[in-house]
Amino acid sequence: MVIANLRPSWVEVDLAAIQQNVKEQQAQLPAQSRILAVVKANAYGHGAVAVAQALRQVPVAGFCVATLDEALELRAAGITELILVLGVTPVEVAGVAAEHQVSLTVSDAGWLQAYATQIAPLVKSPLAVHVAVDSGMGRLGARTPAELQAMVDCLADSGFVFEGMFTHFATADEADPSYFERQVNHWNQLVASLTEQPPYLHMANSATALWHPETITANTVRMGISMYGLNPSGRGLSLPRPLHPAMSVKTAVSFVKQLHAGESVSYGATYTAAADEWVATLPIGYADGYARGLTGYQVLVNGQRCDILGRICMDQMMIRLPESLPVGTPVTLMGVDGDEQITATDLADQLKTINYEVLTGFASRLPRRYH
Ligand code: PLP
Repeated sequence: MVIANLRPSWVEVDLAAIQQNVKEQQAQLPAQSRILAVVKANAYGHGAVAVAQALRQVPVAGFCVATLDEALELRAAGITELILVLGVTPVEVAGVAAEHQVSLTVSDAGWLQAYATQIAPLVKSPLAVHVAVDSGMGRLGARTPAELQAMVDCLADSGFVFEGMFTHFATADEADPSYFERQVNHWNQLVASLTEQPPYLHMANSATALWHPETITANTVRMGISMYGLNPSGRGLSLPRPLHPAMSVKTAVSFVKQLHAGESVSYGATYTAAADEWVATLPIGYADGYARGLTGYQVLVNGQRCDILGRICMDQMMIRLPESLPVGTPVTLMGVDGDEQITATDLADQLKTINYEVLTGFASRLPRRYH
């Protein structure tokens, strides 16, 4: 994938905001608590290597990624802290994790037995394992003490290090706590059934750390969306403290013309000017992750909201200008301009999705610029 460095459209990332969000969360946790920074999906679109390097200075205890490939990207960049792969890693490639000191999530004893017999004899280093507990997310992990014990028994093999155990919540960002509380109880029961506890016990995601800190019985928090400055619930629950959004998306006007009454723009000619007006073309479109569903929404120019005209194209889009403005005029698609702001949650509302999907949707074609 080519990064379009020679085009004035980019994702701007405020690394200091990410550091501050982590420091403020750490200050709310008991002194001995650790934070694993969730940098999967290219750090929710912010750039995994740059974010991980910035967070080493905070510091954090380690990083969570979704895939072994994401973990290896961090190792290649010189990140030496704990890195945990949260997804399922095929047993055939798991030796690569051991060789690079990458920790893997494991959900069943069969996987561990296959690794111990087929892979461990070929690998010099032991594999660090975090056992997943399914307390109600219904995605990965042991659901009963027996399933958990079967995994713990396998971990006695010298090919493994029993490094951690974790669960994930389905409703920690919702107003009704009943399902969340059932999950907490389920987790606590499974932890209590262990005869030996691993060094890392983690249950809390961003929402749990923000709205249910009193329930955290584990020593480690996995911090994702709140680290990037966004409310995990969108607008469902109000934040107990301000977060600092780290990502902005910007471009610059590439072409300006006066549209005359009766003239149309873009595919389908769905927009026709009612009167003469100034129109700018922007060099960014849905292939950059500025979704076509945002047709009809707004961008910010010189601190003013400007309407998007007609359909968003693959690489370009048109907006109405308040007046004739020069090529090169900066445009904010997400972020702050003067007194106006468009947040990822605003875009998510337009798209009937969640702010997580907006952040992760910006394409790798857009360069990431850091400050
Ligand atoms: N832990 C796991 C297992 C996850 O899948 C995720 C994100 O999807 C997180 C933690 C981070 O969640 P959040 O971004 O809501 O903090």
